[in-house]
Amino acid sequence: MTASIIDGKAFAANLKEKVAQKVHILKTEHGLTPGLAVVLVGEDPASQVYVRNKNKSTVAAGMNSFEYLMNDDVSEEELIKKVEELNADPAVHGILVQLPLPKHINEAAVIETIAPQKDVDGFHVINSGLLATGGKGMVPCTPLGCIMMLKDRLGSLSGLDAVVVGRSNIVGKPMAQLLLNESCTVTIAHSRTRNLPEVVGRADIVVAAVGVPELVKGAWIKEGAVVIDVGINRIEKEDGKTKLVGDVEFDKAAKRASAITPVPGGVGPMTIAVLLQNTVTAACRQMGIDEPV
Ligand code: NDP
Repeated sequence: MTASIIDGKAFAANLKEKVAQKVHILKTEHGLTPGLAVVLVGEDPASQVYVRNKNKSTVAAGMNSFEYLMNDDVSEEELIKKVEELNADPAVHGILVQLPLPKHINEAAVIETIAPQKDVDGFHVINSGLLATGGKGMVPCTPLGCIMMLKDRLGSLSGLDAVVVGRSNIVGKPMAQLLLNESCTVTIAHSRTRNLPEVVGRADIVVAAVGVPELVKGAWIKEGAVVIDVGINRIEKEDGKTKLVGDVEFDKAAKRASAITPVPGGVGPMTIAVLLQNTVTAACRQMGIDEPV
């Protein structure tokens, strides 16, 4: 079998277009312009690029974008004060604090300060709790993007065997929870899992979120499975240049899977598109407006 490639770029472009249409309706019919505030601490180049892209995409969707750049010696108190100001600002409907934060700042304390209804990253414990108990919270962007792509490909996921490799709070665990909410039979694998090839090999859906280049071998994939590769790893090629690869051995996996996301161009582009969608959802909920469909 040769897998069809799930085009995350096209999927994200489509979602961004839908978000822009919703924003247009909110502006013209309700006088509401959703606003997203992004706080970046320090000068990590990768984070700077990511924040710049978020800003551009937010503005392109017709929303307000607020950016706060803080020095990497900012105190935890100052950062928390900034988040509290944003919580109280009616023009701001979504707040995102770019991670990772410098070591002297307690990330959990900062995240727990974000008002849960403005937590568009879905990392607040209230939102993880709501996801776990079937409530209506904010859902982390990357796993939500993966679910959207899976449902687009497979329709109902009910009864399918799904394996998530990785158990981080931002990807693996919410991903597993979302798959469970779709009535999959879910296995979460991690660094202590015994016989990973066998665990992966029984899955109809494999989601790899590990951060180890090509850890999941093509030969492990069950014929016809759908593979979602969340990993983004920069590796050095023989000519000394670098390239991005995922957590799955793409070429070999593509010969066994029925569909697979590439890296780059798979899950990555979806994350920002879902962030914009989450901001619209957050704005509608805060203003008591039904979200346009
Ligand atoms: P973490 O480092 O927080 O978690 C990695 C997980 O992988 C851990 O649960 C770890 O297990 C598990 N793991 C590590 N080694 C192995 C192994 N040999 N076998 C099985 N499991 C293993 O990473 P994140 O969840 O934050 O990110 C994962 C990947 O996804 C990274 O490449 C990251 O760059 C990418 N990413 C991509 C995004 C996107 O937009 N596309 C967004 C977020 C992340 P244990 O818990 O036992 O240590």
